[in-house]
Amino acid sequence: MRKIALISEHASPLALVGGTDSGGQNVYVAHLAKQLARKGCLVDIFTRRDAEAQQLIVNWLPGIRVINVPAGPARFIAKEMMLPFMEEFGRFVLRFARRQRVRYDIIHANFFMSGMVAQQIKQTMGIPFVMTFHALGRVRRLCQGQADAFPDIRFAIEERLMRDADRIIAECPQDKADMQQLYGADASRIDIVPCGFDPEEFWPVTIGARQELGIGEEEFVILQLGRMVPRKGVDNVIHAVAALKKRHRLHARLLIVGGNASEPDPCRTPEIGHLMELTKSLGVERNVTFTGQRPRAQLRYYYSAANVFVTTPWYEPFGITPIEAMACGTPVVGTAVGGIKSTVLDGQTGYLVPPKDPEVLAQKLAWLHRHPQMAQRFGWAGMRRAYQSFTWRSVAAQIADVYEAAMQSVQETDVIYSAAMQSASPQSQVAG
Ligand code: UDP
Repeated sequence: MRKIALISEHASPLALVGGTDSGGQNVYVAHLAKQLARKGCLVDIFTRRDAEAQQLIVNWLPGIRVINVPAGPARFIAKEMMLPFMEEFGRFVLRFARRQRVRYDIIHANFFMSGMVAQQIKQTMGIPFVMTFHALGRVRRLCQGQADAFPDIRFAIEERLMRDADRIIAECPQDKADMQQLYGADASRIDIVPCGFDPEEFWPVTIGARQELGIGEEEFVILQLGRMVPRKGVDNVIHAVAALKKRHRLHARLLIVGGNASEPDPCRTPEIGHLMELTKSLGVERNVTFTGQRPRAQLRYYYSAANVFVTTPWYEPFGITPIEAMACGTPVVGTAVGGIKSTVLDGQTGYLVPPKDPEVLAQKLAWLHRHPQMAQRFGWAGMRRAYQSFTWRSVAAQIADVYEAAMQSVQETDVIYSAAMQSASPQSQVAG
């Protein structure tokens, strides 16, 4: 029975997802833990305590504990400000493991700051670690420039982690290429494992999805769903809706799901305020509905109710939402960046478009509106693809293989090291 420590400093599996700093990583850690526990592993998830009311240890599900690590103040801190608390975080994890008398077989660190904790544990206890970066600092800096508030030291930390981790998980071929080209990472130590969806959460709701959401059957519905941050390019989708109206005479209905609260409150989610302003200035406020954050059990209704799911980020380490939409049988139009390039098959499960180009996006949307049968065919093809390649069960099985490879490589290194030590010892020299 393997004992696994998942470290996810800013992204708790218990958090509400869809806000500024809670999204794909939270979902990844939660589903990976569930699948590993199903396979009989014991999983401890370490995440930073960000509310006074949180218990130190939460027995979440059979075989899974969530440890709310006291490191820094017990309130929300933007992830860009979290670095100074990571040493305290690491010390706590070490103390916890000793006091609980638990020896983990493997540490899986998520995001670069968790990698620092894994490094600390490896140095002290010799436990191997696997790294999923979820996002790379250099890619972010290239795309976001001045708006990237992470300190520059992030680049050197990531570079070192790429050398020290026993295995690295890239989420798509582009992620791997970025590590090689921007950090000089050794390709032979990187495995590509995608993200997934859970068939118990997502399936096509063929009857009643629109009724559930109060949407008319005749409307052409476009869905945008995800965290509300500028790099997700939600403004681009709003511009495309305006172009549909002006140039294609098509009155689409755009649903925008996500935010820090269940109401689309600009005070709680400033980005929603900016986007609302944009809808007004483009004269499409009646075409666009902001819903605020939605719980996971409701998402299949949104995906199923939509004629098309749209996601047009500037860059995307993986992008779980296209997979979720595909699992619900909905065609996807996404930007040809990062993981989306690998999940959406252009002209088969949807379309790939350039980022920041609302005219091209509007053309694809208008085409799908004019060809509903083709759109439906794309949706079915997407669903088949999601089930074939992207369930969390198959993703977790691939990640478990990466863990075994990491443990194996440490054992081999230990054997080589002790053999070298023996041959270098004075006794063996006398004997030799
Ligand atoms: N999400 C959610 N509720 C919302 C908005 C988003 O549960 O209101 C989830 C969404 O279903 C997906 C995740 O947040 O599972 C976003 O992951 P993705 O990889 O697309 O983007 P990231 O957050 O990693 O940038």
